[in-house]
Amino acid sequence: MSARIISGTEIAAQIREELKKEVAELKEKHGIVPGLITILVGKNPASVSYVTGKQKTAHELGFYSLQDDQPENISEADLLKLIDKYNNDPKIHGILVQLPIPKHIDEKKVLNAINPDKDVDAFHPVNVGRLMIGGDEAKFLPCTPAGIQELIMRSGFETSGAEVVVVGRSNIVGKPIANMLLQKGKGANATVTVVHTGTKNLEAHCKRADILIVAAGVPHLVKPEWIKPGACVIDVGVNRVGEKISEKTGKTVPILRGDVDFDAAKEIAGAITPVPGGVGPMTITMLMKNTVTSAKMAAGIK
Ligand code: NAD
Repeated sequence: MSARIISGTEIAAQIREELKKEVAELKEKHGIVPGLITILVGKNPASVSYVTGKQKTAHELGFYSLQDDQPENISEADLLKLIDKYNNDPKIHGILVQLPIPKHIDEKKVLNAINPDKDVDAFHPVNVGRLMIGGDEAKFLPCTPAGIQELIMRSGFETSGAEVVVVGRSNIVGKPIANMLLQKGKGANATVTVVHTGTKNLEAHCKRADILIVAAGVPHLVKPEWIKPGACVIDVGVNRVGEKISEKTGKTVPILRGDVDFDAAKEIAGAITPVPGGVGPMTITMLMKNTVTSAKMAAGIK
């Protein structure tokens, strides 16, 4: 039987509707408007497209939202000063510096300069620590892992007691999602195994997974025979494997492939995310959710 397709596009749209209502209510009852600043250094086309998408979503949700474009040659000191300005701006609840930034600037210094209470990407070491501790300590969850957890929960998979295998140990996906799913609580309480380039028998681990989360960045790394029948498969990988002409627009667009062989895997899995249209649309949505949380925190609203 073919797997149920977990549509990130649909689930993200649902969450955005919920956020829109929450933003309208915050405005009406408390006079609060969530504020997001996106800082873009230089004109890297992929980065321009990412921040444009973030700004568009923020506006649609009714945020106070600004983009601050800075030249490629901005000095580290000036960028740090700019961050400090937004750290002290009460209208701004979320600060996002689009990565990558030019090599002459120390990325770590920049991310660490963001006030952890406005760090809606949740990359600041303080927020990474809060995530490890879990429970009420975790104020913001990093966006891609938070999106993965929502996809699992909203598609009805029980995480409590489940065998979860995470392929990949990056700081932005593998490590945080593994930490989130092993916490006690809703959408977690799982037995988590993290596999990576040092793992001896990837296939054997994957085969045990009730929930398999793959974030390796290797097209079709996971073969269909590695999947436990009925498992929930979350494919985070987005790999460009070529280009094609879009039937809709006539423009050249990249051919994207996930880390899982989707067509074959869907005959074995119980549910699976497509690429594109799976985890991708969730990431921006969770950034918006963090900004709303930050605005509420700043106003002392639970
Ligand atoms: P990364 O390169 O930082 O980490 C990849 C991890 O996978 C590493 O820890 C490595 O040990 C592991 N790995 C790589 N090859 C492996 C192999 N053959 N066997 C076992 N483990 C292996 O990547 P990342 O930033 O975590 O991203 C992973 C993928 O997810 C990429 O394709 C990226 O584009 C995608 N991604 C998508 C979103 C989204 O919003 N959809 C967000 C972040 C990342």
